[in-house]
Formats: sequence, C-alpha cells, structure tokens
Amino acid sequence: MAFIKIDKKNFFHNLSQFTKKTGSKKSIAIVLKDNAYGHGLELMAQLSQEFGLTQAVVRTLKEAQTIKPYFQEILLLGDKAIVDEKYSFTLNSLADIINAKKGATVELKVDTGMHRNGISMEELEKALKLIKEKELNLKGVMTHNRSADVLSSELFWQQKNFEKVKKTVCSILSNKNICFHSFNSASALRLPCDNQSFIRLGIGAYGYSELPNIYDVLDLKPVLSLWAKKIATRNLKKGERVGYGGTFIAPKEMTISTYDLGYGDGWMRSSTYKPFKTAEGLDILGRVSMDYISLESTKDEVCIVSDAQVSAKQIGTISYEVMTLLGKNIRRIIV
Ligand SMILES: *Cc1c(COP(=O)(O)O)cnc(C)c1O
Repeated sequence: MAFIKIDKKNFFHNLSQFTKKTGSKKSIAIVLKDNAYGHGLELMAQLSQEFGLTQAVVRTLKEAQTIKPYFQEILLLGDKAIVDEKYSFTLNSLADIINAKKGATVELKVDTGMHRNGISMEELEKALKLIKEKELNLKGVMTHNRSADVLSSELFWQQKNFEKVKKTVCSILSNKNICFHSFNSASALRLPCDNQSFIRLGIGAYGYSELPNIYDVLDLKPVLSLWAKKIATRNLKKGERVGYGGTFIAPKEMTISTYDLGYGDGWMRSSTYKPFKTAEGLDILGRVSMDYISLESTKDEVCIVSDAQVSAKQIGTISYEVMTLLGKNIRRIIV
C-alpha cells in the first residue's frame, strides 16, 4: 500500500521557527484536527510532546481522548462540554452554553467578522452571564480570522473587534486569568504574537503558508511526503491505451508500471483531467483508479507528493485539502 513519510527534522524545524516568533513553546497550541492535517493524529501528538509542546487543539472528543497522554491542555473546537481536567471546550453559540455540563472548562468563541461560529459581539454580556449561571469554568475567550491569509486590511479590522471583546470581558469579569487567543498560522506569520496567550498553529507547523509570498517571513519545510509502491510493469506498443476509459494513448513504445495509490486512499481522481505531475516529474497516465495509478517508471517506490502546495495548485485546491484527504489507513512512518 501507499505510505507516508513524516520528516521529524522538518517538523521540529517549523516548530522552532514559530517558537522563535512567539517567544516560547508554551505559547503554541498545535492543531491536530482531521488526523493532524493528514499526518497521523497520535504520531504527531507524540512528536509534538517530544519537541516540548504542552497544548493541542482538536475537533472531537474522540481525537482528544487519543492524544490525552501527550498533552497538559487540550482545546476542543467541536463536541459538547463535559468535565475533564485537561479539556476545554469551545462554546460556539448560546445553545452550547446551555448544553454544557456544570463545572466544565470552556472557552467562549466570539464572532468578530467571520460569521461562521461563535456568539455575536452583541451577545457577549448575555453569554458571560449565562456561563456564570451555569457554573462553567471560563478559561478563555477566542475568535477566528477569516482573511488572515488574504492580502487586505481585514485582519486588522477583526483584531480591532477582538480588542473590543477583550475590553468588555475584562470590565465584566473579576477573574483576570482569562486567556485570549485569535491567531492561526497566517495571523502569526503576519503580526507580532505578544498579545496572544497562545497561537493555534496548524498549517504552518506542517510546513505551509497560503499567504502571498511577501509574507514568507519564516522558512517552513514540508513534513509529509506521499509514496506509492510498484505492483506490476508492462511494455506498451504505440497506440495502446491505459486504464478505465482508455483515456491515455501511448504516443510511442513505452514501459509503464502500476502503483498502489488511488482515490480509495484519498488521492483525488480529479487530478486525471490534466495530467498530474508527481514529485519526480512523472505524468499520471490516464485515469486514477480506486487503488491504482499508472506511471512511466519501473522504480519500486515513487514519490507522488513532496510538497503538498505544489501538488494542490495542479488540481486547483490548497495544501490543506490534499493532505487531509489522505486515508487514515495509509501507513505513516517517521524518517
Ligand atoms: C483549524 C483552525 C486553526 C488552525 O488554522 P491554520 O490556518 O491551519 O493555522 C486555528 N483556529 C481554529 C479555530 C481552527 O479551526
């Protein structure tokens, strides 16, 4: 089966870059949702711990349970709040406050302009009152930026709104230990991080920035590479066709091999419509099957992706999607 190599050195390198920016390992919460952006949840939790990180962010309780031994604090973005000494749960709406278990540790998400999740700024006082009434343990107040990776002033406008939120929270609550955080990778690359309790570091840790080049302020290196193994080799005569629909027609005599990667592994079939070039510069010949692709190669192992951003551009998407689609069953090995 296809396999994934996780480059530990590059992961540590990226984390060091962000640690330099934030000033400490304590001010980084590694985002491990969606199978750690396809890198493997538990494996990346282990490596994060080895590097010295103590905080993580996931979406579900199931993910949190898997990585619990590796971290001191885990923030959950989805799922209902229950009481646990390590977990804090994001409150995305007033209904989330009502549904939370008494005594649960929570973080209130405020909508400062993205209009996806979080309570509105107008609901803030009401929400804080409800949290108190429900006897929830409010640990933090957070927001998410909609345009951190877009070259515009929107990030600054949202940060202004978040400053207003902070003011309101601090004027109402006597507890001065509330943490405030609003930065994803792109925000952390663009702005100083010193007014954040911690940053929620996702894509940057895995080696990518979707920001315009002028924001290439840190030197980030891809952590994941995708490999496939040879199944069979054959010789084609000129004019012979390959794969479903016979869409590839050999322009000359050639030797091709089948490799064990397909859309069943999360490799998008849409890459068929323009010939997709592998990391080694080989065209995928004809259609992607459920478990196979064909390449003009006889090598036992071929590298399909060494830079998810380069691959993503070829198929009209972003690095996040290429990586998170990769199947959970693909073997991940640390190199
Ligand atoms: C996924 C996510 C992040 C991480 O974003 P990156 O762009 O990958 O750094 C941060 N905060 C929230 C709320 C998220 O959902």
